[in-house]
Amino acid sequence: MAEEHTDPTNCSTCKTSLAESGWVSYYKDNELISSVCIGCDLVEKFMEWHKSGHITTPLHLHAILSKDQIYNRIRMSGERIREEIDRFSRWVWAGGLGHLVRESNERGHRADLAADTMLVWSCAGRTAITLETTGASITLLAATDEPQGRMGLQGISATESQALRLLSVFSEAWVRREVVPKPDRNVGMF
Ligand SMILES: [Zn+2]
Repeated sequence: MAEEHTDPTNCSTCKTSLAESGWVSYYKDNELISSVCIGCDLVEKFMEWHKSGHITTPLHLHAILSKDQIYNRIRMSGERIREEIDRFSRWVWAGGLGHLVRESNERGHRADLAADTMLVWSCAGRTAITLETTGASITLLAATDEPQGRMGLQGISATESQALRLLSVFSEAWVRREVVPKPDRNVGMF
């Protein structure tokens, strides 16, 4: 408790100086649990992925940027997710969501489908779309003014199959007109 408000100095795992490496802090109930260097954090997330298939944003980014073969499977997952995002762009964004966002005076929208939720937030020419369910979420980013805009994967905390399921559930429900985004002021930066 005493050290709660002081900056951490060394990685909890490898003890390297955090000032040099940059770090990630983890909290539980607002209490600092650990601060680990970027390298140790990546290793931890890689091990977690190896066990459960859960892909996180830093891991996904690192897999894209790195040529290391150890990340091949994550890169391939990313490519399959990428293809499903392209369908989502065509069916959902170009199929009406982009228009709805451009016409609306509200920045935030929300649509629920059983236990799955779509949160839409527009600001400064960009629209972020988060698809989430218990234990999994992905965030896509579109240029608000581009009707056919290709979307990018902005964030992920999901297994490949969870991400693919969320994308296809919303794409297919959208064309059946079952997704009805409603203005929601609780939707903010996420
Ligand atoms: Zn470390």
